[in-house]
Amino acid sequence: MTVTVGFIGLGNMGNPMAGNVLKNGFTLTVFDKNRVAMQNLVAAGAVAAASARQVVDKAEIVLTCLPGSPEVEELYLGAQGLIECTRPGNVLVDMSSVLPSTPRKLESLAKARGVEFLEAPVSGGVTGARAATLAIMTGGDEVVLERVRPILRTIGPNIYRVGPAGAGNTVKAINNMMSSVNSLTMMEGLIVGLKAGLDLETMHAVIKDSSGNSNALARVHRALIPRNFEPGFKVQLMNKDLDTFHSIARELHVPVSFANIAQRYQQAALAAGLGEQDTSVIFTLIERLAGITRDQG
Ligand code: NAD
Repeated sequence: MTVTVGFIGLGNMGNPMAGNVLKNGFTLTVFDKNRVAMQNLVAAGAVAAASARQVVDKAEIVLTCLPGSPEVEELYLGAQGLIECTRPGNVLVDMSSVLPSTPRKLESLAKARGVEFLEAPVSGGVTGARAATLAIMTGGDEVVLERVRPILRTIGPNIYRVGPAGAGNTVKAINNMMSSVNSLTMMEGLIVGLKAGLDLETMHAVIKDSSGNSNALARVHRALIPRNFEPGFKVQLMNKDLDTFHSIARELHVPVSFANIAQRYQQAALAAGLGEQDTSVIFTLIERLAGITRDQG
């Protein structure tokens, strides 16, 4: 395969996503400001760059997966940023979850320099990133999507073209609001059950086969029973996505309510110093509010 690929931002999502690009035979150059995040990929055959600049020098198609809009805008628009340094004709694909205004701005500035840009946020969590089953929500030109599709296919089979730049991150924020609300209603329900003397396994089994079932229930075995709150998906990232959802709803004058309740829980977790933990950790906050004490040993 001749196309050269770059990947910047190798955290909980970017690392396994880049690993799947590599496994499919693409020549891959990687960069993360945390050098440890590159080690496993270099061991698997990727080339480590010393800077983001080196990635765009080496690769024709560069994917990025950073925390949010401030980091993405800094990387793309700062001094020696990706848009300034990418060769005209090459492609930048941002897979981070950001404000819709970010890809709109990046696309127009990239185009002005003859650089192609596509927004492509993802959903499916770290499990989906490892299994290459992510949903990918692209916004931007169809021709750009077709150019990068063979690479995106190595990351996830469900690739959608939602609309122009900004549309991908709009549906992503809607998805995450729904996912967060689902998750929190599940947690509140399970804690009522615990106080009523039921056990988690039994509730999980019954609800999985009943009308209250949702993807959120996967957290019962992944996080709640083992009490493993390693991310996964960090509280601070969900908080950011709910901010995005609220800003879209506010701009459109839609009076939304559930997202506000979901964000109150993220705020409580941030205030408790749990921002770097998985969003499932909110279960422990609701337990405390409910007066459930348990031996953390
Ligand atoms: P993370 O915090 O684990 O990883 C972010 C990585 O970006 C880190 O390794 C960090 O060192 C690196 N980084 C930040 N700024 C950089 C820069 N300027 N140059 C190079 N590297 C830089 O976050 P994550 O969970 O991997 O999430 C990444 C994006 O994907 C976020 O927008 C998040 O909302 C989204 N997302 C996450 C999940 C999930 O389950 N974790 C699921 C879907 C979407």
